[in-house]
Amino acid sequence: MEPIKSIIIAGGGYAGIIAANRLARKKLPIKITLISAEEEFHERIRNHQVICGTLAKTYSIKSLLHKNVEFKTAKITKIESQTKEVFLSDNKSIHYDYLIYALGVQRKTDKALPNTYISIVEKSDCVRLANVLKTMIQPKITILGAGLSGIETVAELAETFPFANLSLVDAGKLGAGFSESAGNWMKGYIAEHKINLVEDSYIQSFEKDSLITKSGKKIEHDVCILSNGLVASPVGMTSGLPTNEIGQLLVNEFLELKHNPYVLVAGDAAKVISPDHTHLRMACATALPMGIYAAERLSHILGLKSKLGVKPFSLSYMGRNVSLGRKDGVIQSSLADDTPHGKVWKSRMAAWIKEIICKLTIQSFKLEKYMDIYVWKG
Ligand SMILES: Cc1cc2nc3c(=O)[nH]c(=O)nc-3n(C[C@H](O)[C@H](O)[C@H](O)COP(=O)(O)OP(=O)(O)OC[C@H]3O[C@@H](n4cnc5c(N)ncnc54)[C@H](O)[C@@H]3O)c2cc1C
Repeated sequence: MEPIKSIIIAGGGYAGIIAANRLARKKLPIKITLISAEEEFHERIRNHQVICGTLAKTYSIKSLLHKNVEFKTAKITKIESQTKEVFLSDNKSIHYDYLIYALGVQRKTDKALPNTYISIVEKSDCVRLANVLKTMIQPKITILGAGLSGIETVAELAETFPFANLSLVDAGKLGAGFSESAGNWMKGYIAEHKINLVEDSYIQSFEKDSLITKSGKKIEHDVCILSNGLVASPVGMTSGLPTNEIGQLLVNEFLELKHNPYVLVAGDAAKVISPDHTHLRMACATALPMGIYAAERLSHILGLKSKLGVKPFSLSYMGRNVSLGRKDGVIQSSLADDTPHGKVWKSRMAAWIKEIICKLTIQSFKLEKYMDIYVWKG
């Protein structure tokens, strides 16, 4: 009998959970352990709802995992790829035969900012802000970064705290990556809710109670939410694995780590180095297909037939979805390479579609415990 291989999945986010559930149903002599820093699943795509107190439900990671996946709550500090070990914060290590690395992104830690700054990617920051906002009557809040999550955050705040003074600041323009029609809809929402939109303004200085732009303009705040520039988990870089400047692990078109066939990478933590993958962006819409693919690729490596795993990873985007509070939104359809193109859904219909998409991510985890359900356009 073949010896049982130990598979470690690092990270219980979108990529890690769905990879675990797909792999757990394969008829392979494997033991799967998913390690994640916390017991609760962070539904990161709803972080803006955490700030505004509009998030209704939370889930434990264990409740979303297939029964054959062992779950361990622990912080991973290092990967020793030579000896195939994952080190934890208690200095203990666990051996792996194959590793799926899916540690996602986190707040930038290079700048020591005052506690009036929080990061939209960190749930703990969002919870802290939610508690502070409960005590403020007319908070002055700046959101730095007018990308998808910055727009969703400012809109959710505008709907929940109509008396707040809100500013949305960006070094470029609002709605980059959207068609004119979708961009105008978002601008209309911003204007209607009297949000102070500050475009083309690079921030030079981060003061306790204000941002200072390159041109010297001061934008005052009680709290500033950082929704700009992300960095990947530092574990890859600390471990001496091949990474780019923001710590994403460099992988080939099979999501295999450069020069290391025993490590696959999925989700925000992966940077695919291939001319066919330059369109990939950090998104749940990328992390889920990558997670499934990593499981299929590993099954193929371990000798099972896998239609998906035998081919390189490929993903065609279909669009971008933005909620504008709970009752409004924009859905922008796109070409496979993520260029905005074609139909745009707006208003309540878009909010409804976006909510269904968010719910479907959780449903996909649950259903993948029992069957191959998650599909995407390759
Ligand atoms: C406000 C907001 C809105 C968004 N909206 C959308 C959207 O509408 N559509 C979309 O496609 N994308 C959206 N995104 C992006 C999406 O959330 C991410 O792309 C997605 O979470 C990536 O999944 P992942 O599995 O790679 O990483 P994550 O979901 O970040 O999971 C990583 C996991 O690893 C764990 N971990 C990290 N470090 C360690 C460690 N050292 N030890 C142990 N465990 C660790 C974390 O606790 C976490 O559980 C949004 C993001 C934000 C912030």
